[in-house]
Amino acid sequence: MTAPQTESRIASAEDLAAFNQSFGKASSSEVIAGVARAFPGRIAVVSSFGTQSAVLLDLVARVDRTLPIIFLDTGWIFPETLAYRDALIDRLGLTNVSSVTPDMDELETEDPDGRLWATDGGRCCYLRKVAPLARALEGLDAWITGRKRFQTDSRAALPLFEIAEQRLKINPLAGWSKYDLDTYFGSRNLPRHPLEAEGFASIGCMPCTARTLEGKDDHSGRWQESDKTECGIHLPVPSIAAE
Ligand code: SF4
Repeated sequence: MTAPQTESRIASAEDLAAFNQSFGKASSSEVIAGVARAFPGRIAVVSSFGTQSAVLLDLVARVDRTLPIIFLDTGWIFPETLAYRDALIDRLGLTNVSSVTPDMDELETEDPDGRLWATDGGRCCYLRKVAPLARALEGLDAWITGRKRFQTDSRAALPLFEIAEQRLKINPLAGWSKYDLDTYFGSRNLPRHPLEAEGFASIGCMPCTARTLEGKDDHSGRWQESDKTECGIHLPVPSIAAE
């Protein structure tokens, strides 16, 4: 399986079509290996180290333990998530995990009392997630996410490859089901996030995460007090995206 040649940022529908042509039928591992080869030194994985993250991280580790992994430490992360992050790093032998933090001067100015999440969640997500991630992705041409179609209605049409801010965004687990994930967890004997057993199916920042609602999708515990469904680092799938 040959990866398209890339010497600069992905910018066109033709580039996207070339990746879909090469990897549209490939396994998740083949996709990860292929894009790692296509973007040496110019690609990173973004992981929340949440309840499902171990699957993508294990697949990545089996391809290349040195692949850069970005974790957004918003300042509101559950201690259990930080401990789980460290345990997974050890368990999987990941050697290049960066914890990216917000600009403290900006927080001091705009969120001095740590209540911005309650008064302007969009701005809070921007300062604590979107802007730090944008800084972390500077100089990179591609990034890998762990999103899946089954997670929310807004992700139902998630493609394998998409373009965001002139970067290739790769979703190697797009087509995985909950059953697939559980099977993989079992087959690889991967540890579970400690809060999953307490009813949290999806875990983000402490103020904006509650237990998953009975009979609702896994993300139903996120931003229960607002109509937010994404924090802003994953904008709606653009029309250029295809699979
Ligand atoms: S999820 Fe909540 S606490 Fe975290 S950055 Fe967004 S608004 Fe702020």
